[in-house]
Amino acid sequence: MPTHLDDLTQGDSLYKTLLESTRAIPWKIDWETLTFVYIGPQIEELLGWKQDSWVGINDWAERMHPDDRERVVNFCVAQSKAGADHEADYRALTPEGEYIWIRDVVHVVRNSDGQVESLIGFMFDITERKKNEQELLQLQQQLQELSFKDALTGIANRRMFDERLEAEWSDAQRHQQPLSLIMIDIDFFKQYNDIYGHVKGDSCLKKVAQTLNSAALRSGDFLARFGGEEFVMLLPKTDNDAAAKVAERCRKLIFKQQIPHPASDASSVLTISIGVGTHTPARTDQASDFIEAVDRRLYQSKQQGRNCIVR
Ligand code: GH3
Ligand code: MG
Ligand code: MG
Repeated sequence: MPTHLDDLTQGDSLYKTLLESTRAIPWKIDWETLTFVYIGPQIEELLGWKQDSWVGINDWAERMHPDDRERVVNFCVAQSKAGADHEADYRALTPEGEYIWIRDVVHVVRNSDGQVESLIGFMFDITERKKNEQELLQLQQQLQELSFKDALTGIANRRMFDERLEAEWSDAQRHQQPLSLIMIDIDFFKQYNDIYGHVKGDSCLKKVAQTLNSAALRSGDFLARFGGEEFVMLLPKTDNDAAAKVAERCRKLIFKQQIPHPASDASSVLTISIGVGTHTPARTDQASDFIEAVDRRLYQSKQQGRNCIVR
């Protein structure tokens, strides 16, 4: 393989010096034979393969991560055939079996008849950039998760509930399926805090959240902290009888925890009051009206002495 630059630069030592002293690695491929006419000596320092080991485009394709190979080779060949300049990112293999992220920027050279004659390009080491990109992506994901999570209990927060409700509401509208909503409020929780303090109050909220979480059985069921000592459970494709059963399971599970609450007028242990509603929304119905209707039932269950369910 002609690794000298005469062919590429007509022996101009200025160009040779420039090309071989950049961090970008220049190369040239003859389109007819698909062989390297030239590749910069810097390639050895970057990837570890000797300069004269780059003979045909197979050497390039084979030293590529298997997960990138098909996509990149197909793309570059198609672009080259179409005569379009292009660039591609991929992981290049080192002799040690490690991978380095490369951005290949390719210019297609045509002859006077307009036919593709050769490809000239530069390889850039973009490992650092990719690493930063991936770290940023992970951070974004973490942030996204955090923004939908209630910090105290670890279950979904109000924001997540609002999104989910909107999605389930349209789904129920579209498929004309019943959507059930359970609204839960801890009884006399202000007194609980007054007696035990906010730290114990917080642990109690965590325990309630965990307990309620174990009451939702179907995979589409969704529990969130609505705010303060209130929780909501959304049950898609669920009728009122089935929802009432889940609500009763919630009530019993909390009662079974036997969390002492001497200041409660409803019981000697911590209890919850529950409102349950079910609706198959028509096109013009509003989810906010549904929430209000279920909230009124929750209020009624408070009126009826607490530790009970109104459906
Ligand atoms: P009711 O049976 O009528 O629901 O009475 P309640 O005392 O539970 O209701 P109220 O709305 O009067 O008070 C709710 C209390 O919940 C007030 C507040 O002290 C407590 N609370 C709300 N959020 C938190 C929290 O994040 N941590 C703790 N420890 N307490 C909270
Ligand atoms: Mg409340
Ligand atoms: Mg309460």
